[in-house]
Amino acid sequence: MPADELNGTLVASKLLADTADRVESLKNTSGKVPALATVLVGDDPASHTYVRMKANRCADVGIRSVRVDLDAATTTEQLVTELRSLSADDDISGILLQHPVPHHIDERAAFEAIAPAKDVDGVTASSFAATALGFAGYESCTPSGIVRLMDAYDIPVAGKHVVVVGRSHILGLPVGMLLLQRNATVTYCHSHTTDLADQVRRADIVIAAVGRPELIRGDWIKRGATVIDAGYNPGNVGDVEFAAARERAQWITPVPGGVGPMTIAVLLAQTADAAGAPSGTPVRLLPDHTR
Ligand code: NAP
Repeated sequence: MPADELNGTLVASKLLADTADRVESLKNTSGKVPALATVLVGDDPASHTYVRMKANRCADVGIRSVRVDLDAATTTEQLVTELRSLSADDDISGILLQHPVPHHIDERAAFEAIAPAKDVDGVTASSFAATALGFAGYESCTPSGIVRLMDAYDIPVAGKHVVVVGRSHILGLPVGMLLLQRNATVTYCHSHTTDLADQVRRADIVIAAVGRPELIRGDWIKRGATVIDAGYNPGNVGDVEFAAARERAQWITPVPGGVGPMTIAVLLAQTADAAGAPSGTPVRLLPDHTR
């Protein structure tokens, strides 16, 4: 039987609705309007699209979106100054630096100019350390979205063997950390891994976080496994060979409509958190077979 799909659009819409309620309640009780500053350097069309989508979702949930568009020639120092200024601005609740930034900019230096209290995208070393140590803090949005999506379908993690393909600081590495905290056994694969197919074949849960179309072949997937595809490649293609993987997995995320919508929903939920909105109700979905 083909795998059931993990519907990220549906789970994200519930999280967005919960965030909208929290924002409304904050406005009613304190008059405060949460604001997300999105900082974009240069004129990469894909980045412009992402920033526009985030601004639209902000409007949907009542968060004020403040766009800061900077010239492609902006220096690291100028960007750091802008991010420090936003960090000190009492009217700004959260800050998102759209990445990747142009090559001449020191991205890490820019991330570290964001005050941890406003790091709603979870990119600073402080947020990373909080995630690693299991402390309260803002989680990197895509890893958090992946875990929330799995939780919504009650996918068991404790004792399972998770293989994460990719180890970037904003995705592969932190998603493995979050699943380790939930008592999974975690294996990381990366560009130097010599036996990727064998590693994936042993996985109860595969997290694909690479950015290479259909790198992970369907016939590598263990029967009954859960497949989470965070990859997004031109033509709406993920990192997993979807049709073949679906024949073997129990649960699988579609691309698009899987992980992607969760990322923005977590960003806005964390912006509401940063503004001091009262915590909402967790989003839960029953597994398909119990509905
Ligand atoms: P990244 O920084 O480029 O990292 C890619 C990772 O893949 C690296 O760790 C790299 O290994 C590894 N890798 C590259 N080639 C490999 C291979 N042949 N075998 C095994 N591992 C390999 O990318 P990222 O920012 O993490 O993003 C990864 C993907 O997720 C992209 O498609 C991106 O568009 C997508 N993404 C989606 C969302 C969303 O909201 N859905 C958010 C963020 C990212 P090394 O470390 O050895 O170089």
